[in-house]
Amino acid sequence: MRSRQLANRKPISNSIGSHLFAIIDSRNVQKEILFDWECSSDKKEWAQHMFYQSNNYIRINEENLIEVRNSCSAYTELSYLKKICQFWERRLPSRPMYNWERGDVKDLLSEIMVRTVLDDFKCLLYSPSRLASVSSIFLRSHYALIDGKIPDGLSFLFDGKFKRDAMVPLIENCDATYAEWSASGSYGSVPLAINSLILGNSINIVESEKTLVAVCFFRAWKKSPRHVAGCFRSATKSGRDILQDHSTRRCLLGSILTEEFAKVGLVHIAELPWSSVAEFTSYCRLVGKACMTILLSLSGHRLGELISVNSTDWEYRNDEMFVKEEIEKTLDSIKIPRHFSRLCEVAIRTFWNLSYVDVDIHKMPLFHRGYSSVLAKIICKGGNVQQWIYSYAAMNDNTLREWLDDYYKCEVIPLCPEIKNIHPKIGPHQFRHSWAEFALRRFDDNVEAKIREQFLHKSYASTRKYTDGKLKESVRYALEHDYLTEIVNRIAENPLRKDFMGPAYLRVKKALQKLRILHLSDVEKYIEEIVESVENFLAFEWGFCVMFRDAKNHAKCHDRFTGFPNPVGRGCVQLCTSCPNSMNNLAQRDELIRIAYCHTNIAETHPVTAIGQLSADIVRQIERRLEEE
Ligand code: SF4
Repeated sequence: MRSRQLANRKPISNSIGSHLFAIIDSRNVQKEILFDWECSSDKKEWAQHMFYQSNNYIRINEENLIEVRNSCSAYTELSYLKKICQFWERRLPSRPMYNWERGDVKDLLSEIMVRTVLDDFKCLLYSPSRLASVSSIFLRSHYALIDGKIPDGLSFLFDGKFKRDAMVPLIENCDATYAEWSASGSYGSVPLAINSLILGNSINIVESEKTLVAVCFFRAWKKSPRHVAGCFRSATKSGRDILQDHSTRRCLLGSILTEEFAKVGLVHIAELPWSSVAEFTSYCRLVGKACMTILLSLSGHRLGELISVNSTDWEYRNDEMFVKEEIEKTLDSIKIPRHFSRLCEVAIRTFWNLSYVDVDIHKMPLFHRGYSSVLAKIICKGGNVQQWIYSYAAMNDNTLREWLDDYYKCEVIPLCPEIKNIHPKIGPHQFRHSWAEFALRRFDDNVEAKIREQFLHKSYASTRKYTDGKLKESVRYALEHDYLTEIVNRIAENPLRKDFMGPAYLRVKKALQKLRILHLSDVEKYIEEIVESVENFLAFEWGFCVMFRDAKNHAKCHDRFTGFPNPVGRGCVQLCTSCPNSMNNLAQRDELIRIAYCHTNIAETHPVTAIGQLSADIVRQIERRLEEE
């Protein structure tokens, strides 16, 4: 399959049987999909029918382009359809799909899910998300066939049980269980201990005196721009920098810089910590890398979402920072405001401050090159600053991946060389998975203190157990159990304090009334009984899922295929806020308010009415939950 950007050219045709599809998404990204597949035309037509049935497909517009929600997802989906069709042609050329047997689909999976090229990862399988994509195609084909919407499709359900049966033999080669593999995600995650090390190092850099000196330098320079190289020791005849010069003779920039230092308590700085502009630029780059890892670790946002942020995209509401991001994979990539925690805010503001231009005036990308001496030169010469920012300031995905790789190898591994064997390769998406895994403590009331406590501990050995994948499940269970016990104890100690809300909290509170008639020696046992009656305890940004064994049936997140609750896969604000198993603490209540704010924005601005309506419904639901308080 080939795809290329369309240069404002109309497609030939977009109907079933066409050799070419031309698609366009809400960001106006256009692509051309060529069906040069190695299979018969009836199979290609089946794939095209399937594509028209997908969630990604919206309509064929007036210009005869296929409107899709996201062109990248559409392209990916068609690439899976191509794999299926080519397998079909090779292995079962004359058999309709409704006559396929389970063994045929398993054969297909062993082709699609097993990597042919080995890399650093021990597991030879592709990610669970790849399996999810393939299974959703087959499920859709099954239902569409039953509903008579397509001429052919799978006759049996590609459900959770079938997935497990098909994957277990393939996983056996990977020294893992199905549960471990399916929880691993596509990129794995950064183990807690290593994430602690990375984050601790990054916070140290961002909050260091050296970084504050750099921020002051940029502030001062913007007030009195001059040749940058001449500010540093290596480029001056006297071998003195602007600060040292200022103390011996009049230097305007040196004098302003001294004032800036005085404002932030850096009066003791007598010389700049960098001897040349190259050293200084390299340090700014290091701070950028540290800021990026803080944002990836603590926000859980995708790299692409962070890349979409510009310095004009943020605002404060009730002293909290909201930054507008393009949400990948959902919401048609429109920009919506998202909340950032204080440490993320520090990282964002710090990196924007490392710029020769005022980012409140000039639209600067979050990950930028505004610290480049080339920009300083352009400013001094009165050149076109905006043009330079537009052409050179932004950093792309690949550069940032290199930054992360370089940061890990040069700054983190030297701190503890052993981690190279445990986690040799790092990628931005791994932080997203780690973020989800560390969810428990992060949503406690004193979030920042907990984050620091969790991420800044120095004892690597004590957290070594977290790096052992096989212990992951039991460690997670122990953490959840301990934390739930702590919460129930907190409620028991002070039932009048309104630290929690929601139906699950009311249930715990009611059960704890019995404590009044219990002997002190039985209290601990009774609290343990309450904790044990909870089958699943999970933390989301918006609340805890406290799924009591006897309230499982009332869970709102039932999986329509298995019939069981699926908190990990289906838990969301919309379902949880109306579920009897949910509970919120104060931090999560605040998060609900932020989510309501974001959805209000979507409800008011989204071009697709149905999506706007969905957001309006979520806002109403959150309001109801907050009113219950
Ligand atoms: S809907 Fe939410 S609160 Fe209810 S059981 Fe599912 S995940 Fe838990």
